[in-house]
Amino acid sequence: MPSFRQQLETAERWRLFPGRERLEGAAVALTFDDGPDPDATPAVLEQLEAAGATATFFLVGEQVQAHPELAAEVAAHGHVVGLHGFMHVEHDELADPRADLERGAAALAEATGRPPALCRPPYGRFSRASYTACLELGLEPVYWSGWGCDWEPIPAERIADLVIRDVAPGVIVLLHDSARYAYRDSARPTAEALPAVMEAVARAGLELVGVGSS
Ligand SMILES: [Zn+2]
Repeated sequence: MPSFRQQLETAERWRLFPGRERLEGAAVALTFDDGPDPDATPAVLEQLEAAGATATFFLVGEQVQAHPELAAEVAAHGHVVGLHGFMHVEHDELADPRADLERGAAALAEATGRPPALCRPPYGRFSRASYTACLELGLEPVYWSGWGCDWEPIPAERIADLVIRDVAPGVIVLLHDSARYAYRDSARPTAEALPAVMEAVARAGLELVGVGSS
């Protein structure tokens, strides 16, 4: 878990640098950060496809360059693709945040054939400079309103429980299809949590949509 101090700090940044935390409609959006990664992206795609669900993937430029075919596959499945930076670092630490976002957006466009329209910064934290750059580049800032704590080494059942607790009309759920920047060895528990999560969403009478399509 992020520390209480970090969470307070993130909340303060969200107030200063507003972004989309919820959908306008009554649907639910599952979002997957940090990929594409051969570890769990294929399993996540498989689960979504089995349920006929559309999701949103915030891809990391360096991951896209390492696995361009996976990035293309995510887009080919009809999912929304957003930018999660070229490098997965705190934007405060970037000497030139605009260059990082431009490089990331170019990597995504090259691999998927489409420039991204959405941007979620690593750790959900923009700097003033990166927020300005994001808006100037025409990218919509996106945060979240629910999560599965799936950067921690917790089992699929626990991830599902945490997400299901947050299922409500308009919620944007933060999940991860790569463990590369997390405290766990694999992101596969996230993929394994999806059937229970998607069943709960359906039981609540809610539709799964990509961010920006509702
Ligand atoms: Zn991330």
